[in-house]
Amino acid sequence: MNTPIQFPTNYSAIIERIEQIDAKQYERTRNFFNGAVTYLSPYIARGVIQLPQIKEIVVAKYGRYISEKLVQELAWREFFQRVWQHQEASIFTDLKQEQIKVAHRLMPSNIEAANTGILAIDRAIKNLYDTGYMHNHARMYTAMLTCNIAQAHWLTPAKWMYYHLLDGDLASNMLSWQWVAGSFSSKKYYANQENINKYAGSQQYHTLLDHSYEELANKGIPADLQDIHELTLSTILPSTPTPTIDSSLPTLVYNSYNLDPYWNKELTANRILLLEPAHFDKYPVSKKVIDFVIALAQTNIPVIQIYTGSFDSLYTLTSNIIYKEHPLSNHYKGKMESRAWLFEHVHQYYGSFFSYWKKCERYYQ
Ligand SMILES: Cc1cc2nc3c(=O)[nH]c(=O)nc-3n(C[C@H](O)[C@H](O)[C@H](O)COP(=O)(O)OP(=O)(O)OC[C@H]3O[C@@H](n4cnc5c(N)ncnc54)[C@H](O)[C@@H]3O)c2cc1C
Repeated sequence: MNTPIQFPTNYSAIIERIEQIDAKQYERTRNFFNGAVTYLSPYIARGVIQLPQIKEIVVAKYGRYISEKLVQELAWREFFQRVWQHQEASIFTDLKQEQIKVAHRLMPSNIEAANTGILAIDRAIKNLYDTGYMHNHARMYTAMLTCNIAQAHWLTPAKWMYYHLLDGDLASNMLSWQWVAGSFSSKKYYANQENINKYAGSQQYHTLLDHSYEELANKGIPADLQDIHELTLSTILPSTPTPTIDSSLPTLVYNSYNLDPYWNKELTANRILLLEPAHFDKYPVSKKVIDFVIALAQTNIPVIQIYTGSFDSLYTLTSNIIYKEHPLSNHYKGKMESRAWLFEHVHQYYGSFFSYWKKCERYYQ
């Protein structure tokens, strides 16, 4: 049995993880559950490390050609961020076309209970609860089973998965679910038991997915996936004192998507990790996720104060505020600074990764 993956919070361990990337193995094995993936997403999604930083380290070691697959995967993340910038709240609705074959907008009970009967998926869901991580292929299988076999609309189950992921990112999450469900892609994604056995290393037969692709696309909802329920998720935020602000200094505002220890590192400033209840009411996350966010902040950003409250209440304490650009910070006021991009010149809206990557490739050569 493999040891479950751990996510240390100190910066040197995170950098070591980047340095250990094997770009050749990554390309060959990334689709397998036990493949040489990077396990960097929780740090990327929380803004602790930046995509150009990873690209530079990997390209310096392996060259552009061998690094291309990994850079392309990093570009998927950036693509979703660009879609979010352009489409804003529309990413929470069917973006390109309506999802077809929708029986309900609730959560299939046996998926939440990790009791679908597909052992590789059930194990991956239990592992998500234990570690806050799920392999990309397992996420695709889970979303496929939920939306295309159990015929749930994607939004509720996307929120369920987001809740548990240490790397929860609203753009990557909502848009990937939409991609699988066929509302942000040209068709629904299907994987059958044979495909799952190949990539998950399982050997299961005669399951509800042990059919041809044509049969899967035309089946009704299997009995095991018919029970559904309303999802109830909530976030427990810490109670914190009002922060102490030195009014002669600027205040840097961090949040669960920006925990960059190198951001304005040399500046003498107040540093606040802002946890806004209104945000977490709308997009709840688990205690494990909140603990991870706080640990990343406290381990890597000296003298940071944690503040549970609204941006407006922070603004009553000081208006000399600096923050990073992000769709979730659109209501912040003060001086906005830009994020680091892999392909900063490719900032237009592209409706598919393929057309986006074609444009990026010119800058990658
Ligand atoms: C249904 C579903 C939900 C998802 N939800 C999230 C989410 O909430 N947050 C999130 O960061 N990713 C999400 N992803 C994308 C992807 O699964 C994860 O980024 C990846 O599995 C993270 O593991 P890793 O760092 O080991 O990946 P690696 O394969 O090592 O990839 C390196 C980095 O490239 C980026 N990347 C790789 N694959 C993808 C992809 N398909 N889409 C976007 N970026 C990618 C990530 O930043 C990742 O850290 C989701 C995918 C699916 C199918």
